[in-house]
Amino acid sequence: MTTTPYPPELLRDVEKRRTFAIISHPDAGKTTLTEKLLLFGGAIQLAGTVKARKSARHATSDWMEVEKQRGISVTSSVMQFEYQGHTINLLDTPGHEDFSEDTYRVLTAVDAAVMVIDAAKGVEAQTIKLLNVCRLRNTPIITFVNKLDREVREPFELLAEIEDVLKITCAPVTWPLGMGKAFRGVYHLLQQQVLTFTPGEERRSDGEIIKGLDNPELDKRFPLEVGQLREDVELIDGASPPFDLDDFLAGKQSPVFFGSGINNFGVQEILQSLIDWAPPPQARDGGTRMVQPAEPAFTGFVFKIQANMDPKHRDRIAFFRICSGRYSTGMKVKHVRAGRDMKLANVLTFMANERVIMEDGVAGDIVGIHNHGQLQIGDTLTEGENLGFKGIPYFSPEMFRAARLRDPLKSKQLQKGLQELGEEGAIQVFELEGGQMLLGAVGVLQFEIVAQRLKDEYKVDAIFEPADIHTARWLTFPDDVTRRNFEREQALRLGKDIDGNPVYLATSRYNLEVTAEKWPKVMFHATREHG
Ligand code: GDP
Repeated sequence: MTTTPYPPELLRDVEKRRTFAIISHPDAGKTTLTEKLLLFGGAIQLAGTVKARKSARHATSDWMEVEKQRGISVTSSVMQFEYQGHTINLLDTPGHEDFSEDTYRVLTAVDAAVMVIDAAKGVEAQTIKLLNVCRLRNTPIITFVNKLDREVREPFELLAEIEDVLKITCAPVTWPLGMGKAFRGVYHLLQQQVLTFTPGEERRSDGEIIKGLDNPELDKRFPLEVGQLREDVELIDGASPPFDLDDFLAGKQSPVFFGSGINNFGVQEILQSLIDWAPPPQARDGGTRMVQPAEPAFTGFVFKIQANMDPKHRDRIAFFRICSGRYSTGMKVKHVRAGRDMKLANVLTFMANERVIMEDGVAGDIVGIHNHGQLQIGDTLTEGENLGFKGIPYFSPEMFRAARLRDPLKSKQLQKGLQELGEEGAIQVFELEGGQMLLGAVGVLQFEIVAQRLKDEYKVDAIFEPADIHTARWLTFPDDVTRRNFEREQALRLGKDIDGNPVYLATSRYNLEVTAEKWPKVMFHATREHG
């Protein structure tokens, strides 16, 4: 082994970073788990902090409410806390109504994800979508099967469903001892001990442990449940692969934990697995070369832009993931796309529920940069090198609206507004033949926010009408002749995205299939990378 070329202090700090997100279907228990994780990290003193935000998220129609909710979620978009000498960055992925492209893009900025499954419901729609996004980068997934204190489904059945639907191998690490009213705890398959559960009591590190599956203490304490546990463990030994770190890191296998978030049971094991198994920041594709996290030169990319509290100031926060080097206050960096320098002053970091001025950050950390539109999603900042980080995707929208003006004289402003909001990533904008503007989103809230921002920031009163579009596909052609022929035949279904790339706008799944079949050499892509 040669000695490492990287500054040892930087390397040490990078190795201590864990940057992850929690993915789940609404109501599976993400908020509850977040709160308990923060409690362990000492980041919040009282439960309830995260809940306050949650109740705000149901108001969607009123702009002030949206702003408020957006504002609050700016502070809780990233929660940094310390645990066992590690610095943990937990990135929030909004659920439900405020589900948008942001959610997807946040997943490009993490190194691991915790997937929460409601044990009564199993794999749900949004979990499938989010996991597919994680798969684009083979992000390692830790699974938490939640709500074991309720009457839930058979654990083997749940694992089979996860494997079947999500196409990821499950390696159980803990296994439930009883469930519902008779939930007594979990057996830790690697440590070969039972962690007992007492309803209504939060479990901290000093909870009771019974060592060994054959321990007569188990027969004495849990005579009705222990027989099933022993049978299950025998079955697991035959049916499930043991936990394999390499398979986990490759995104092929997920360690599975059972517990009850609300009772703080099983939560510490999740945190421990993040520290023990989840990867520290990895090398990233900088376009021209791989960028190692402990390289001394500062680099990173913008993965999300959020409008700030005060719409009058058009102030936005760009969420930026550091990929290498060390951030220092007031440092000068190169904005590669714009080809000019900028100074990073007043950069924010996010400590649980408050914003503080960032002083020091390394790979894996997320910083918030105030900007007035100069930064876009996918932008790379460096200390001079011309890099362009890859892998921050646009996703094919799932809802479409046609933009129509109340005052036709304002079409220039509408165009400008949509161009800017599209570049910022608030919405996807497509231009059809004849100049009509079509908006695409993955969450309906995106339309509301864009309509309101057009009014406030661009003084444009636009109506968004339902459009008869099912999905969009980015096109690539094998040669110019094919492109021209395709364009001629499909003129009515063609549009351009904000960067001028050709897009096929399908009226139905059938329409897409028929066209794709007819044009086998034309590629139809459901995602496109920024830049
Ligand atoms: P989110 O929508 O995924 O953020 O879910 P929440 O954390 O808000 O949880 C949804 C509901 O499930 C809330 O009413 C929680 O109190 C409840 N919940 C969360 N964890 C548990 C659990 O372990 N057991 C039970 N019985 N309920 C839970």
